Amino acid sequence: MGSRQVTAWHGKNITVAGLGVSGISAARALAGLGAVVTVVDGGDSEGHRARAAELEAAGVRVRLADAQTLPEGTDLVVTSPGWKPDSPLFAAAAAAGVDVVGDVEIAWLLRGPDAAPWLAITGTNGKTTTTQMLASILKAAGLRTVAVGNIGTPIIDVVLGEEQYDVLAVELSSYQLHWAPSVRPHSAAVLNLAPDHLDWHGSMEAYAADKGRIYEGNTVACVYNASDKATEDLVVDADVEEGCRAIGFTLGAPGPSMFGVVDGILVDRAFVDNRHKNAQELAEVADVNPPAPHNIANALAAAALARAFGVPPRAVRDGLRDFRPDAHRVSHVDEVGGVTYVDDSKATNTHAAEASLAAFEPVVWIAGGLAKGATFDELVQKAAKRLRGVVLIGADRALIAEALARHAPQVPVVDLGRTDTGAMLAAVREAARLAEPGDTVLLAPACASMDMFTNYGKRGDAFADAVRELAAERA
Ligand code: ADP
Repeated sequence: MGSRQVTAWHGKNITVAGLGVSGISAARALAGLGAVVTVVDGGDSEGHRARAAELEAAGVRVRLADAQTLPEGTDLVVTSPGWKPDSPLFAAAAAAGVDVVGDVEIAWLLRGPDAAPWLAITGTNGKTTTTQMLASILKAAGLRTVAVGNIGTPIIDVVLGEEQYDVLAVELSSYQLHWAPSVRPHSAAVLNLAPDHLDWHGSMEAYAADKGRIYEGNTVACVYNASDKATEDLVVDADVEEGCRAIGFTLGAPGPSMFGVVDGILVDRAFVDNRHKNAQELAEVADVNPPAPHNIANALAAAALARAFGVPPRAVRDGLRDFRPDAHRVSHVDEVGGVTYVDDSKATNTHAAEASLAAFEPVVWIAGGLAKGATFDELVQKAAKRLRGVVLIGADRALIAEALARHAPQVPVVDLGRTDTGAMLAAVREAARLAEPGDTVLLAPACASMDMFTNYGKRGDAFADAVRELAAERA
């Protein structure tokens, strides 16, 4: 543990909000440093009690069935990402003059003097994919690294673990950024910015401001999306270290200090000698998996961060070639009767669905679920000319149906009127009926899944099962 600020935590009264993965990790780590830790959670199920018993064995107090009141004597509250800023516990903390921070902030504060720098990524969509691409590129360069943050092992465990790293690829959600005031990445990227989670943040301005925090104190590069001005505005507003550069990425030809695409080649015009004249070839578009436009943008952002860290061009290419996306992210499922079936169940908001619809034409679109307050007019307007047909499922399907009636009245729409899990098979059958050979059937719901499924993964699995059943029926 070296010379970390161990003493700073000894005897401190810390309340951890939430008995989930990050809360448990924070509680164990802080108790291990001698803090007096109490975990509070509103739940009181058998699962909660089992986890509580384990933590209590490690010397952590746990208070179940009360997530609202602040334990007496609390010096600091450590929150889990899902907790809303207006939670009564935080109001109680504010009233008592007690700070609230998240697990990412704790991880940052616990870093040792020679800790690995952070290359950080946020955005409304593409965070996980880009972070994993970045880790793959860094590994291809022979660097010891891991993708952390909103993914994989809790970040505190990585920072305190035995394993030594040269650099970390850190995915940060807007929630995590909200509660992480001291984090200062080496370089950072905001991939895109579209309305999401506004119920949590309160407004688009507050959401953008939290995302923008990722650029604070960057030392080498602030990477922004040149076709999403809001991301560039965040760079302009950020307080960065002297000499830190703004680096844009674009799907078109890049200007100086940018990354972009020329004749099917990903190129770097930022980290090269004489960027006004030169461009460095990095990889081919075909090296990106899958080579859909939004994913090429992700690859450019990952490449920009890697190059900011000094990674050679060859490693960018090798890392992109090695990269395999997680399941349910524009995943090819099967081809049945000349029609390709693609699972993008992870497209849980309209911005993500817009990106994946833009990658296929003609497309039969399976959509619907929980809209989370979204509107669908813009999405439907942009996708209208690509649509062969639409099949709607889920609780808020009427919102999509209405947008289709307004902006794409010529497109056939089948509203299944169902919210049961079994509806997916019916949806796939209807989609198959609408599709013609050469078409793509795309599950990109633009909505959350919890009205019909446990999570987006289960929704994607149901889609793949239904496609298998369809293939068996047709065999
Ligand atoms: P996140 O971690 O931000 O949720 P993921 O990498 O898991 O992002 O991708 C989630 C979904 O967002 C994908 O299934 C795809 O539909 C969409 N997506 C990915 N990258 C982008 C992008 N750059 N722009 C828009 N949508 C994207």
